[in-house]
Amino acid sequence: MQKVYPNILTIITTYHCTAACEECCFECSPKLKARLSFQQISEFLKESREALGSKVKGVVFTGGECFTLGDDLVRAVGVAHNLGYNVRCVSNGSWAKTPEKASHIMKAMRDAGLNELNISTGDNHQAWVPFDIVLNAIGAASANSINSIIVVEGYRESNFKIGDVYNNRRFQNLQRRATDSENFGSVGVMNNIWIPMHLHANVTQQQKYYVTAEQANLAKGCDNVLTTLGLNPYGQVIDCCGLTMEYIDSMKLGTYRNGTLKEMFNKQFNDFMKIWLWVDGPEKILYFASTLNHQINFPVTISHPCQACVELYKNPIVRETLQKNYEKVVPEIMLKYSIKLERTNAERKIELSY
Ligand code: SF4
Ligand code: SF4
Repeated sequence: MQKVYPNILTIITTYHCTAACEECCFECSPKLKARLSFQQISEFLKESREALGSKVKGVVFTGGECFTLGDDLVRAVGVAHNLGYNVRCVSNGSWAKTPEKASHIMKAMRDAGLNELNISTGDNHQAWVPFDIVLNAIGAASANSINSIIVVEGYRESNFKIGDVYNNRRFQNLQRRATDSENFGSVGVMNNIWIPMHLHANVTQQQKYYVTAEQANLAKGCDNVLTTLGLNPYGQVIDCCGLTMEYIDSMKLGTYRNGTLKEMFNKQFNDFMKIWLWVDGPEKILYFASTLNHQINFPVTISHPCQACVELYKNPIVRETLQKNYEKVVPEIMLKYSIKLERTNAERKIELSY
C-alpha cells in the first residue's frame, strides 16, 4: 500500500504553562510539569529526517508554553533548522514582558533559525497574558525577520475579537513597518474556532458554524491525521495534533525510542479508522453512524472536527455501530484513499516547484 507521508512534525514540548486558560484543550497550567528533554526532541527530529527524508517540510514546537524550555527550546530550534526544516513556535507570549526582554529572546531564536511565531490570545489567554505583552512578542519577532501571526480565540461570547487586533494602534504600526520594509518579518492575524472543553463552558459559535447532518455528509477528510507525526510531553509518538488528541488513545502510537519511528509510522496504516478519518473526516463518519443506528443523533453542537472525532472514539454506541458496519465501506474508502493520495502528492510537488 502506498503511504501518505507527514509534512509536519509537531513537538508538544510540555504541558507546563505560564497560563491556565479555562478551556485549554490539553488542560495545561503552571502545576503540570510533564516535558520532553532536549535529547528526546533532538533524537526524534534526526530520526524523522532519516526515516522520512525531505518529504517533511516543517517542525512546530508547541505546548503548553514551549518557551518555558528556555535554552533547550533554542537548541531544539537550532537542530530543526540545521536539518533543513521550516521552524514555527506556538506560544502565549508571556516571556515578552518588556520590549527589551522580547528582543533578547527573539534575537536568540532568529540566530537558532526560527522562521515563524504564532501567539494565541483572546479572553481566556488575557486572564494571564495582557495583549500589550503579545504585541511585544510580535514586534520583536518581526524586527528579527521572523514572520508572526496573532491567533485569536473565536467564539460568540468573547469580549476580545479579531477586530480588536486590527483596530489596535500599536498593531497597525507593527503591520505597517513590516509591509514597508523587507527586513522585517510579516505580521498577521487570524481567528481560530475556540471550543468548549467542559460541560458548562460559556463558549458557543454563531449558528452558521455548527455542522448540520447534511453538511457533515459533504465534509472533507481530516488533513491533520497521517500528515502529522509528533511527540507529546510524555514521549509518546502522536499521529495527529488535534484539540481532542489527548482524549483518544489511538492517536498515540507508542513511546518513542531511538530507532522505532519507522515501525510506528507504518503501524498507522494497519488502522483503517485513520485512513477513514483522512479520507472522509470525523463529521461524515459520525453522520454515517447516525444513519445506521437511530440511537445516534447527529449532535447539534459540533463546530470543529475534533469534537466529532472524540465522539467516534468515546461514545460506546457510536463505536459499536462503526465496528459492526465499517466493512461495508472499506472498498469505497480505499479507492478514495488512492485518489486523495495522488492529489495530495501532486499538490505537494506544485508547492515545491514554487
Ligand atoms: S496558553 Fe495555551 S497552552 Fe497555556 S493554558 Fe492557555 S491554551 Fe493552554
Ligand atoms: S479530527 Fe481527529 S484525527 Fe483529525 S486532528 Fe482532530 S482529533 Fe486528530
